[in-house]
Amino acid sequence: MADWKERLKNAAEAVLFDEPMKNHTSFKIGGPADALVCAQSEDEIQSVLELCRTESVPCMVMGNGSNMLVSDKGIEGVVIKIGESMSAVSAEGVQVTAQAGVVLAKLANTVCKKGLSGLEFAAGIPGALGGALYMNAGAYGGEMKDVVRSVRYINEKGDICTAEGGELDFGYRHSMFSERGCVILSCVMELSEDNEEDIRARAAEFNRRRAEKQPLSMPSAGSTFKRPEGYFAGKLIEDAGLKGYAVGGAQVSEKHSGFVVNTGGATAQDVLDLIEYIQKTVYDKFNVSLETEVRLIGRQGR
Ligand SMILES: Cc1cc2nc3c(=O)[nH]c(=O)nc-3n(C[C@H](O)[C@H](O)[C@H](O)COP(=O)(O)OP(=O)(O)OC[C@H]3O[C@@H](n4cnc5c(N)ncnc54)[C@H](O)[C@@H]3O)c2cc1C
Repeated sequence: MADWKERLKNAAEAVLFDEPMKNHTSFKIGGPADALVCAQSEDEIQSVLELCRTESVPCMVMGNGSNMLVSDKGIEGVVIKIGESMSAVSAEGVQVTAQAGVVLAKLANTVCKKGLSGLEFAAGIPGALGGALYMNAGAYGGEMKDVVRSVRYINEKGDICTAEGGELDFGYRHSMFSERGCVILSCVMELSEDNEEDIRARAAEFNRRRAEKQPLSMPSAGSTFKRPEGYFAGKLIEDAGLKGYAVGGAQVSEKHSGFVVNTGGATAQDVLDLIEYIQKTVYDKFNVSLETEVRLIGRQGR
């Protein structure tokens, strides 16, 4: 076993070697990560990052894996997964502090019980808070930007910092974290007081609309493409005649053309080939470029 792997076993409590990423992504696709650390604490994350820096081992962080397409060849180095063990939520008045690993459904439910409104839009997004901040996740007219006041993170040098307000650079599926190798640890949100039943009813209505439109019973990573200005990706794909079009096990959803779904046994290469085909067809027909919203991760090449 490589030296760094031995050291990693001492630095982290829960490490899995050669771990298939298909077990950790909503697409149910992805080859093995050399090592996957299920993060237990901020100190542990800092130790793992330090080890990776000194050993020159690539390192990336993930949340719930609901916006990732991982290569069939897997991921080189260490993946730090921030989940359940780092999912504390606390509230002081309308101010809520939450750790990056809390899944959005649980966060939305927790604040709803406290009579706090503002996260109803997020109740049906299947990500964790860290991934939602990284992506500035949004739905039904709401986005993380509306409620987030500050974010604690580990910067590229390994120091814990706080960013707030305009610094966070939130935009459409974009944040200051999009182009940087930072690890989001927690954030502070400002919500507003409301009646618990009303909050719950709004979240339930969003979830009902989601279930009606989206192929939630099939593995996917949500919307495959960002919304091009002035258009809807799903409508362009449908109008290009691609609804139901498949490459191997990857298919343009019959229910919502903006989603690529895994019909069973799809490889990452199937999905990539389908994405490329969609992009080319839509461009040829409508002169519109579709940019992926799904993050393409891992070793490249066929
Ligand atoms: C059925 C379905 C419906 C969806 N609907 C929506 C929707 O309505 N709106 C929407 O915006 N999205 C939607 N998504 C996409 C996805 O759920 C969101 O983008 C979500 O915010 C991703 O969170 P995650 O924890 O799963 O991130 P991951 O997929 O684990 O990671 C996404 C990116 O964030 C980075 N990242 C994750 N955690 C951290 C961290 N702690 N620090 C630094 N970087 C981090 C990763 O490196 C990666 O680049 C949907 C997905 C599915 C499968």
